[in-house]
Amino acid sequence: MGWNNLFNFSFEVTARCNLNCRFCYNVWKHDPHYPKGELNLEQIRSLFNKVLFGLPTETIHLTGGEPLVREDLEEIVHYFTQKRIYVAISTNGTLLTEKRLESLVQAGAKRFELTLLGPNSEVHGRACGDPENFNHICRAITAVRERNLFLRAAMTVTAENIDHAPQTALKAIELGAHEFILYRFVPTDGKINGQSALLPSRQQINSAVSKLDELASKLKTPIKIGIPIAPCELDQLPRHIPLTMCMGGISKFIIDPVGNLRLCEQSSQRHGDLRTENFFFKPFSKTTRDFVRQIPTRCSSCREIKKCRGGCRMLTPSI
Ligand code: SF4
Ligand code: SF4
Repeated sequence: MGWNNLFNFSFEVTARCNLNCRFCYNVWKHDPHYPKGELNLEQIRSLFNKVLFGLPTETIHLTGGEPLVREDLEEIVHYFTQKRIYVAISTNGTLLTEKRLESLVQAGAKRFELTLLGPNSEVHGRACGDPENFNHICRAITAVRERNLFLRAAMTVTAENIDHAPQTALKAIELGAHEFILYRFVPTDGKINGQSALLPSRQQINSAVSKLDELASKLKTPIKIGIPIAPCELDQLPRHIPLTMCMGGISKFIIDPVGNLRLCEQSSQRHGDLRTENFFFKPFSKTTRDFVRQIPTRCSSCREIKKCRGGCRMLTPSI
């Protein structure tokens, strides 16, 4: 048995958040029975000392909730950077003051993913529910760039803001982002639950990808797609934006605020409690293999199958 992949973990350091975005996928918001709480620093060290032992781990993304609500985030960052693991922090930017940025950099943080939901305060504010947040995020992006840290601007797109994606990419680049990434809205557990109005239409997705592709052909800044958009959803394949496939359960693993393993941010299905169970064999377990092999029957004769692997599993019914 050998490891063919470098591992990338997303660690949801907290379930707490200071915003209430309409599209939020956090599984605990959608499942009232999802385990509550968060690990303290000692418990985090103890859990990851076991999980990371012997694993070729490249990056750990610290997410949430909003990771900066944790006052000990710097100590968490320091723990991972001491293990020579690249730390990326995904944040809504509201709490990323100059002082906080300085202490995170001192702790070893080198990459930031900041959420930009629109090109102006109106679009961005409507999506995150806080009209003031646009100014915070612009200030935070500028502060990160002034320190020469890697900055990715991330836009989650719903039916309400996807038409602004090209202008948002331009705004991100104007502010100095090293790359722009588009995450489509994905309903948690694939259940629409009253959020159907947020799902972008096929026409909207095609229009956004085509315009972003045109932008990417002219700009040096990479434009990427985070959650897969399947080739069969597109009238024309982009030439300057790579299409992606689901890496959940292959190289990407999620660890929730209390130490449970998941294979997908948007799925509440848990694959064990890593406080008591060993991660080492999880990538080979039946439930992991079932998730990875969960390919829709219509894909079996598709020539894109090797590149696409059926797209996002949480969106399969709606593609
Ligand atoms: S593999 Fe499936 S999801 Fe992907 S392009 Fe083909 S039919 Fe569409
Ligand atoms: S199913 Fe895969 S592609 Fe879709 S949200 Fe989950 S990890 Fe991402």
